[in-house]
Amino acid sequence: MAKKVSILIPAYNEEKVLHLLYARLKSLTDSLPQYEWEMLFINDGSKDNTLAVLFSLRKEDTRVNIIDLSRNYGKEIAMLAGFDYASGDCAIVIDADLQDPPELISQMLQYWEEGYDDVYAKRRSRKGESFLKKKTSAWFYKILQRTTKITIQLDTGDFRLLDRSCIEALKQIRESSRYTKGMFSWIGYRKKEILFDRDQRAAGETKWNYFKLFSLAIEGITSFTTAPLRISTIIGVLVSLSSFAYLIYMIIDTVFNGNPIAGYASTIVIILFLGGVQLLSLGVIGEYISRIFVETKRRPPYFVRSFNDEKIPPQNRKQN
Ligand code: UDP
Ligand code: MG
Repeated sequence: MAKKVSILIPAYNEEKVLHLLYARLKSLTDSLPQYEWEMLFINDGSKDNTLAVLFSLRKEDTRVNIIDLSRNYGKEIAMLAGFDYASGDCAIVIDADLQDPPELISQMLQYWEEGYDDVYAKRRSRKGESFLKKKTSAWFYKILQRTTKITIQLDTGDFRLLDRSCIEALKQIRESSRYTKGMFSWIGYRKKEILFDRDQRAAGETKWNYFKLFSLAIEGITSFTTAPLRISTIIGVLVSLSSFAYLIYMIIDTVFNGNPIAGYASTIVIILFLGGVQLLSLGVIGEYISRIFVETKRRPPYFVRSFNDEKIPPQNRKQN
């Protein structure tokens, strides 16, 4: 029996690019007839005509399946929905905007056939991205890698092939604030890297802005490591030790040398500095507490309005 390959495509306001994407996917699937294919689109609460376009594609091609989420949940949750509904022996996550070239999939499948469980595409270059975006992303990965024992894959997005065993693993991680890139590393399994040049968006515009990226960066760090807490502790110890040393010095200076204690400016600087350190540490603790808060509510990560033509009531959610 032919092995089944699911292509997962999270789509949020992508009406402009879907026809292009479908054409590329179709020629790919035509060139690999030895597999059975599923194109599983996850409509992440799009406000444009994405859903209508998807249904028109499905009319032409029944290999197109459509999960319609009840609202916009973000790409991370959209991917989880994709893992839940994917029926293939492996699944490939790909962006709708054609920044990830679908032609790479045939190479991914070759490595999968050789026995790799997670074949991920690493960017050799990034076209059409600003210098600042490249730099900030490089810093972020560096910081993240320093603070955690798990190897974080550099310059790697979500474009990858996952074997069924990886999908089953990822489905069991039901955190609602997700940092999927980290989870791919965390679950382990046999990984293989392939290199590619990331293209520019074919049409439409990016949904990321610096604020969102900053939030994702915080998400990444707080969901993968508790190092910031440890760092606060270390800063606290250092500051206490040095202020104690300074205290001893002041006593000696006053008693033996008769120098008056230095004045207003130094006091203000020290108070403000310590105030800053304290607020920062509180903020760090707050980040972790807010994660505890969100996760303890144990809400389902998403709701599906419909799968293809079928309405899905909440109690029929597909899970594990
Ligand atoms: N996406 C999504 N939900 C969102 C934002 C984005 O499903 O809330 C999808 C989007 O349709 C695309 C992919 O995630 O397929 C990557 O988004 P985008 O191209 O905006 O990100 P970038 O490539 O700029 O990092
Ligand atoms: Mg993109």
